[in-house]
Amino acid sequence: MSLPPLPSAIKYPEIKYTQIFINNEWVNSESGKTFPTINPTNGKKICDVQEGDKADVDKAVAAAKKAFEFGSEWRSMDASQRAVLLNKLADLIERDRIYLASLETLDNGKPYKDAFYLDMCATLSYLRYYAGWADKIQGKTIPVDGTSFCYTIHEPVGVCAQIIPWNFPCSLVALKIGPALACGNTVIIKPAEQTPLTALYIASLVKEAGIPPGVVNIVPGYGPTAGAALSAHPDVNKVAFTGSTDVGRLIMEAAAKSNLKRVTLELGGKSPFVVFKDANLDEAVESAHQALFFNMGQVCVAASRTYVHEDIYDEFVKRSVERAKSKLIGDPYDPKNEYGPQVSKEQFDKVLELIESGKNEGATLECGGNRHGTEGYFIQPTVFTNVTENMRIGKEEIFGPVQQLIKFKTMDEVVERANNTSYGLASACFTKDIDTALEFSSRIQAGSVWVNGYNLSSCQAPFGGFKMSGIGREGGEYGLQHYTEVKTVVIKTPQKL
Ligand code: NAD
Repeated sequence: MSLPPLPSAIKYPEIKYTQIFINNEWVNSESGKTFPTINPTNGKKICDVQEGDKADVDKAVAAAKKAFEFGSEWRSMDASQRAVLLNKLADLIERDRIYLASLETLDNGKPYKDAFYLDMCATLSYLRYYAGWADKIQGKTIPVDGTSFCYTIHEPVGVCAQIIPWNFPCSLVALKIGPALACGNTVIIKPAEQTPLTALYIASLVKEAGIPPGVVNIVPGYGPTAGAALSAHPDVNKVAFTGSTDVGRLIMEAAAKSNLKRVTLELGGKSPFVVFKDANLDEAVESAHQALFFNMGQVCVAASRTYVHEDIYDEFVKRSVERAKSKLIGDPYDPKNEYGPQVSKEQFDKVLELIESGKNEGATLECGGNRHGTEGYFIQPTVFTNVTENMRIGKEEIFGPVQQLIKFKTMDEVVERANNTSYGLASACFTKDIDTALEFSSRIQAGSVWVNGYNLSSCQAPFGGFKMSGIGREGGEYGLQHYTEVKTVVIKTPQKL
């Protein structure tokens, strides 16, 4: 696929929205509190944002509940018109794509090139894909026993809380609101406290697109306050969460203790990337590199355990280390750079601490291992060999630019080791042998298996985790299931129809 030429970024774009968005209006927090959002490239504050808390969540939930009431503008709207509005929102995002990508780079630190091509592309495709579904969500007629006429309706669940992390702040808004709105729900989004700015700008486009008040509400704020208030709220019917496994557990607990709201979780991973000895080595080295270092390793599917067959291990290590050393790091607005800072000081410290643990637990540091430069939260691309799964870097999610290269001998061994984790998000194998690929795909415990490639995700296909990597699926038709309730209507008839 050929890409459009990369337009120049707006370096340091103007910040237009920093308030809470409820009922299509901008409001300050009830408490009067604000929180800073930081530019990870230099560690300096970008601006202060209104800090939503329980009182603001209550207001947003009330607005979403009202917008969902029977007879409301939103509930009475034709499904095809919901599609028109979602497409309109996508068109406005496309109109402002350069600004939004520039803002994402400022707030998150990811290379502008990636923000423009990948994040914005994903944002648009999620919205347009789910717009297409809006008037195709339908039930069945069922030939029940006896003299009754039975049909099902797929009704919207109602008020949906959507809590998202900082690694894909813009595209995750689209992945969350696309299916929710296509099905006719109303939503409250809580963006991550590290990266609230693109979600707030999208709020302004929600209003411009003509989506009725209360349908989309955005409450920036912290997890233990705003996020917890949403997951415990008795008037929230469903919570969709993307983030860490630890917080996912808290969300389920809060749902169980409040109103048993529906819960979907997209959580962490420790995904295995397995290179069999017949693999195309050039392609496997580059793919394993991208699979780990893309987005500075801050990807839930980051391939943070690379298993390489012993016959090709030494050559694979040599080429992987050369590739990591060649990576161009620096100003994320500069299109020649492939790589920016970690999102925050907290993540920067966490990753460096895990690198230290790798050194102390006996892994061999092949390259990197330190901060890059003197300002901002940049970390050198780091490669470890001689890693075992009992080391912290071999079993914990690092969420940073740290690649583990692990040697294996047989299919049985590698499958057993790859599955020996509480996670099960993604996996990949590289081989030219179809039988090897099929056996691996069948034996691996993961929500996605990619063969001879990595991160081959798309809006049309489902995505989600086995085991402690999540519950439910997002993307594709599967992603709609969690945004509707199935209602069975049975009408007694005088005779068999
Ligand atoms: P996190 O769990 O700390 O935060 C995610 C979101 O949850 C943020 O908006 C945060 O404010 C909120 N939150 C925090 N505590 C909360 C609480 N007690 N109640 C309600 N909400 C709360 O995760 P993070 O560090 O921001 O993101 C990294 C994690 O996200 C990684 O583990 C990564 O694997 C995961 N992730 C998963 C996917 C996926 O699709 N599976 C995608 C991206 C990130």
